[in-house]
Amino acid sequence: MSPFVFGPPGPRFVAVGEYPVWDEALAAVNRDLAVTLPEQPALRLVAYPDEDGGEWVHVALANGDAHGNALEPVSSAAEALRAVAGAAQDTVMELLWRAWPVCTLHGLGMHAAWDAGRAYWRCAGGTGPGDPAHLRGAVGELDTIHRPPRPGRRRRGGR
Ligand SMILES: [Zn+2]
Repeated sequence: MSPFVFGPPGPRFVAVGEYPVWDEALAAVNRDLAVTLPEQPALRLVAYPDEDGGEWVHVALANGDAHGNALEPVSSAAEALRAVAGAAQDTVMELLWRAWPVCTLHGLGMHAAWDAGRAYWRCAGGTGPGDPAHLRGAVGELDTIHRPPRPGRRRRGGR
């Protein structure tokens, strides 16, 4: 008799280092979360056991709640970035009931997209013909475009 006759073990938080590729991708997505929803605690990875003794890993809110599909195996860090961005978006949008991340130009929710081997947040654009869909920023780098301009202050150093 299986020791699990009373049901399989439940989900668990994934420890840092168990899935290094996804850790790194999630850290990037959490940077985007921190600049766009500063009040929201960082997302975490949660593992759900499957029927074959393995587990499915999901991107969850800090409380462990997750929504949407599990992360599929990936073959590169860039793919992991897009996969985690998409999973994070599912979880945030479904569980927090809000579009995320939002394009600051159009006020529209963006989606994780793929272009030339990099993961981006893509906005569908405005309704006019001169306002097409666009890649708003690389996943993990929304801080570089959301930071408000600071008139009167110059960046030190420069390049
Ligand atoms: Zn836009």
